[in-house]
Amino acid sequence: MTDSLSLPGADWPTMDPGWVWLCGAGPGDPGLLTLHALNALRQADVIVYDALMNAEILDWARPEAERIYAGKRGGKPSAQQRDISLRLVDLARAGHRVLRLKGGDPFVFGRGGEEAQTLIQHGVPVRIVPGITAGIGGLAYAGIPVTHRDVNQTVAFVTGHDRQGLAPGSVDWAALAKAAQVIVIYMGMKHIRAIAEELIAGGRDPGDPVGVVTAASLGHQEVLETTLVRAADDIDAACLTPPAVICVGRAVLMRQALDWQALAAGAAPRDLDPLGRGRPAEVT
Ligand code: SAH
Repeated sequence: MTDSLSLPGADWPTMDPGWVWLCGAGPGDPGLLTLHALNALRQADVIVYDALMNAEILDWARPEAERIYAGKRGGKPSAQQRDISLRLVDLARAGHRVLRLKGGDPFVFGRGGEEAQTLIQHGVPVRIVPGITAGIGGLAYAGIPVTHRDVNQTVAFVTGHDRQGLAPGSVDWAALAKAAQVIVIYMGMKHIRAIAEELIAGGRDPGDPVGVVTAASLGHQEVLETTLVRAADDIDAACLTPPAVICVGRAVLMRQALDWQALAAGAAPRDLDPLGRGRPAEVT
């Protein structure tokens, strides 16, 4: 028996046999799952899930649903990705209701596009359910707004790993340094020293604020505030480990006012007006 979501006023889609729903699971906090993803969890026969996903949410699935771990962390050969995609095709063709769950948003550095392509090429019907990506929602959990009127009109999302897991040579860091007021780096921990050097060489202020958020939205989330020139050393000194999103730009300063988790724990804001623009006075 499936138990599709029932909330008043909304008509929740039914997951039909032979379909694959490719859903984002958000950065970690189960509450950041979308209702469509929850609806899928309640109906799926088979759930194929990733490493960077909070496995606790699998407890919300039907007890009899088959759970298949398809974890793969950066830098592994792409043949494995092909295997995962073809496995999804086989499961769908066998008449299962297949939920493919990926951390964050499936279309943001998540290879969701590749999986959807393979499924569609093989004639498998697909539904895409976006998720909250770590580079937006994860930063919000650290009190860093990815845009702020006084800071940025642009934001760039960039991967610190290329296809082979090597240094990110395919990114024009000098162009980014100039064009993007806020830069959000995924998978950037391994190469942060080289990335910071490239950004500084490209004209970025060495003192530009940097925020590093590990395990964002989870109980063991850690946040490091540093600067571009110090980032790599400070990350080493703090022994921070992936997964982490790294935010470069003055939006990071806003954490001094907006660290809502610290405020909830009783801390006072460090600075109500960290940009020194008087905006808080304007709104009070
Ligand atoms: N599709 C995912 C990104 C997958 S790439 C999304 O939209 O969020 C994997 C990278 O995502 C990690 O190396 C890290 O940079 C980031 N990431 C994912 N979950 C994270 C978390 N809980 N905390 C910090 N970074 C995270």
